[in-house]
Amino acid sequence: MLLQLRKNLSEADFRSLADLARELGYRVVALDGVPDLVRLEGPGAPEHRSRIEDCYAVARVLDAGAARELFQRAPGAPDTVVTVGEARFGGGAVSLIAGPCAIETYDATLAIAREVRARGATLLRGGAYKPRTSPYSFQGSRRAGLEILGRVRAETGLAVVTEALDPRDVEAVGEVADMFQVGSRNMANQPLLAELGRQRKPVLLKRGFAATLREFLLAAEFVLAGGNTQVVLCERGIRGFDPSTRNVLDVGAVAWLKRTTHLPVIVDPSHAAGRADLVPALGRAGLAAGADGVMCEVHPEPGETHSDGSQAIGLEDFSKLVADARALAALDGRTLVAPTRPAPHTV
Ligand code: PEP
Ligand code: MN
Repeated sequence: MLLQLRKNLSEADFRSLADLARELGYRVVALDGVPDLVRLEGPGAPEHRSRIEDCYAVARVLDAGAARELFQRAPGAPDTVVTVGEARFGGGAVSLIAGPCAIETYDATLAIAREVRARGATLLRGGAYKPRTSPYSFQGSRRAGLEILGRVRAETGLAVVTEALDPRDVEAVGEVADMFQVGSRNMANQPLLAELGRQRKPVLLKRGFAATLREFLLAAEFVLAGGNTQVVLCERGIRGFDPSTRNVLDVGAVAWLKRTTHLPVIVDPSHAAGRADLVPALGRAGLAAGADGVMCEVHPEPGETHSDGSQAIGLEDFSKLVADARALAALDGRTLVAPTRPAPHTV
């Protein structure tokens, strides 16, 4: 590990760093002629970087070396591949997640699920528990929504991703969901992340709209540190200054994350754009930047929804996005995963 130290350290401050380093099993090596840099030689473990970083004497960890966190891609290491039902993310596999913002009625959810699956989605999205900015907005159909998702899942064979807002909901959500979603507003909800770390189902972790990429990755680390290795990161737009779009899709973050972490990364152009007409372009941009998938809100009757109708694309636009995703994935030797299993009711 390579450390930059604070300037003009007292002997006591330096000693407390040296004591901590020794306790963790490291040897402190001074670098000739560079007073503010030291190298720690030793075992390297995911928890060591933060322990050393928290030490007063340390200004910055310049290189974590072998003490890399679990999210970090070791030099030359392959992608982690996360499989959810028919969907596969990472390792050259690209998958599409589609569905309504919120689960409302059984009939509408079933119709959308059938349509998006027939057109190329391998995972159905839809919130039963909805995080809303106002307590007076529709908060989701909750238990009834979960029940609808369970029935649609059984009927269509599509795996389901849906949000858990609170650690107390994880058990009920887990009875239906193939993948837990953590929303942008909950990215830093550490009790929730810790609870999901105890689960053995994949987690879709959305970036907080004002989170740095290191904060985002450390949120993933809470899940990984609990022993759940199946985390997919989702860039969904960060807050900008311009109200022309709801958020700013950070495609630079996608490219950076793909280099920095072995975890799959997807984009959500719907919450980034906030308007349906921009969703296809942002979805394509995310894939071009290296995303392993796209999650988008699809609704044939956006006027009939209680939430995010203005950003839901129609079925024809979804079909175009599927074709574009296939072409963009092929451009760099990747594959769009298509639904292949027959739907249960047709067997
Ligand atoms: C969602 O995907 O349903 C959602 C609420 O998005 P976000 O958490 O990114 O706002
Ligand atoms: Mn939404």
